[in-house]
Amino acid sequence: MKVAIIGAGASGLMLGGLLVKKGFDVTIFDHNEKAGKKLFITGKGRCNITNLCDETEFLKNVVRGGKFLTSALYSFNSYDTVEFFNNLNLKTKAERGNRVFPESDKSSDVIKALLKHCEGVSFVFNENIDKITKVGEFFKVTVKNKSYIVDKVVIATGGASYKATGSDGSGYKLAERLGHRVEKIVPALCPIKLNDDVRTLMGLSLKNVTLKAKFDGKKKEFFGEMMFTGDGITGPIVLSMSSFVNRAKGVELALDLKPALTLEQLDARLLRDFEENKNKNISYIFKGLMPSSLVSFFAKKCGVDESKKVHEILKEERRKICETLKNFPLAFKSLYPLDAGIITSGGVALDEVNPKTFESKLVKNLYFIGEVLDVDALTGGFNLQIAFSTAYKCGESWCGHQTF
Ligand SMILES: Cc1cc2nc3c(=O)[nH]c(=O)nc-3n(C[C@H](O)[C@H](O)[C@H](O)COP(=O)(O)OP(=O)(O)OC[C@H]3O[C@@H](n4cnc5c(N)ncnc54)[C@H](O)[C@@H]3O)c2cc1C
Repeated sequence: MKVAIIGAGASGLMLGGLLVKKGFDVTIFDHNEKAGKKLFITGKGRCNITNLCDETEFLKNVVRGGKFLTSALYSFNSYDTVEFFNNLNLKTKAERGNRVFPESDKSSDVIKALLKHCEGVSFVFNENIDKITKVGEFFKVTVKNKSYIVDKVVIATGGASYKATGSDGSGYKLAERLGHRVEKIVPALCPIKLNDDVRTLMGLSLKNVTLKAKFDGKKKEFFGEMMFTGDGITGPIVLSMSSFVNRAKGVELALDLKPALTLEQLDARLLRDFEENKNKNISYIFKGLMPSSLVSFFAKKCGVDESKKVHEILKEERRKICETLKNFPLAFKSLYPLDAGIITSGGVALDEVNPKTFESKLVKNLYFIGEVLDVDALTGGFNLQIAFSTAYKCGESWCGHQTF
């Protein structure tokens, strides 16, 4: 049986190798000159393969498509992924937050392992697939000067961000041409632009802060680290937040610069600091509470003249300082453009795909796996695991359970 897989990325390579071992005649097409270009840049070049946690914990990190993915995640979980790679002689290690990396810290070793897994698969590179037609029972996959007649087609084309890696969104068009609905695509795990002028703060990193958002009647907050860019914010808690506000109509953002203290505790600390430094400028107090580069921006936000002496600060101003420390407003503008998202949210509509086989409910023998589907998760190895689990589950539906 002939199978065409479109996309030599994480999901396409995983599935290709599974099928070839079971005697399928597999061809993987990619418009890049080689396999795994996006994989190469994952995890800052180290490739965070998966996240070692149970399925319940895993699903808490899935933003869209959790229910749809449940069956695939139970069939092939993060422990299976680790075993799979270990059996391909790729040693792995788990780091903070259960993030799994290759012991060598090289994403290229993950690609090598996947290519080893794919021994026997035929690859067609440098060919952009934009035409797949149904011919009776079969599919015709057309490339520049040739067409391939196959029994089954798997779309594993990824999302639409970091286009230079090959995932340019063309898979969504393929899906639409084959009759599928594509849910609106928006960036996720993406930096956020602000209306505030934060040019002077560029590069400033804040640790142990809480980023809070109110949007469309909902609230969300993330604790950790963030950084200012020339025109906005980025870093772990910002990327996570972006995945929740990327479809919101209006977003209010605020930072809690002192999440370990209540408003009352903070006020008591300020009173103490004021008492001990009566004749100093208020900016001296601010410097004890935040990085110096943030002081002027902070003073403006709370409307306090930073050259004022501490003893001149009125009670209402002290209250305002406390409130701003706990609720430092950031003027949300938008997310960065789609290409800047680590992942694409939206994609092939899930109600038109069978979650147990990943076969289209509209076109027999057509399948969708990986990020091209309307699924997305937070950082930590969850998105690659989704690619591996959907690929495995799809393969399992054709050739049964496989062990590694
Ligand atoms: C900077 C960055 C860092 C990341 N780090 C991590 C991480 O550490 N851990 C993690 O879990 N996730 C990470 N991700 C997300 C992860 O890389 C993706 O979710 C995952 O690669 C998706 O796998 P996929 O198989 O669906 O698609 P991809 O791996 O993107 O593969 C799709 C392939 O299809 C090809 N293709 C697309 N359209 C066509 C077409 N029309 N014709 C021919 N070929 C086509 C592309 O060239 C590409 O090779 C990161 C993403 C980015 C951008």
